Amino acid sequence: LEEQLRQSQKMESIGTFAGGIAHDFNNILTAIVGYGTMALLQSAEDDPRRDAIDQMLRAAEKAAHLTKDLLLFCRKQVSQKSTVDINEIIRTTSTFLKRIIGEDVECRVSLHAEPMPVSADPHQLEQVLMNFATNARDAMEAGGIFTITTEPTRFDEQFISIHGYGRPGGYVLITVSDTGSGMDKTTQEHIFDPFFTTKEVGKGTGLGLAVVYGIVKDHDGFINVYSEPGKGTTFRIYLPQLSASIQEGPTEPERFQVRGT
Ligand code: ADP
Ligand code: MG
Repeated sequence: LEEQLRQSQKMESIGTFAGGIAHDFNNILTAIVGYGTMALLQSAEDDPRRDAIDQMLRAAEKAAHLTKDLLLFCRKQVSQKSTVDINEIIRTTSTFLKRIIGEDVECRVSLHAEPMPVSADPHQLEQVLMNFATNARDAMEAGGIFTITTEPTRFDEQFISIHGYGRPGGYVLITVSDTGSGMDKTTQEHIFDPFFTTKEVGKGTGLGLAVVYGIVKDHDGFINVYSEPGKGTTFRIYLPQLSASIQEGPTEPERFQVRGT
């Protein structure tokens, strides 16, 4: 629980601070890209300075990418929750996920036969899946297997996960795994920290899993990570399952009344 508090306080303070900077930075970058493009357009084909301007624009583009991630992370996205079937979300996103992980990686999707309703923001869940796919791709440069499965599960008692206490009840378990590079214990401890990245500048922002963490927490869920260097990584994401009775909540008493009178 202490870990969870530490994490969310860190996210809060960094979020407020970085959000302001990211916003100003975005305006500055717009100017750099704008004037840079103008300089490029006004220069002659054989101008030796074109290469330098080109490099400058490319660097500015990388910075813009980082800023975009930063804004996404800082903006307290207000989630628009509705009753959604996790399986359906994965099904509709899978084409896109396949495109992210590329052709060298085999993508296996195995969904539970029954619909699995949760109260969630579908766009945020897509964002979660995309972040996992992006990391899996980066971890499997020489190819491998990317797997997503869903299944229902139950916790009959209160339990402790790495992100605090979990409420007992029915959960939807989404398992996302790859056969990539894996992580050592020290890396695993920091993966949800904003700006923690082991990737080179321009490739990683260290915000992907911080965003994932924020979204899953906002959905009253939690994540566990299992990883072994050289073998691969498995993330288990648990989201509280909506039971059929909750889903039909408003209609149930009415029906009862009609029958009763
Ligand atoms: P980024 O991808 O920009 O580095 P993330 O927050 O998405 O930021 O991930 C943080 C770090 O966690 C990564 O730099 C990497 O070291 C590690 N990581 C995340 N997912 C995986 C994975 N599937 N396999 C191996 N390492 C991973
Ligand atoms: Mg990432």
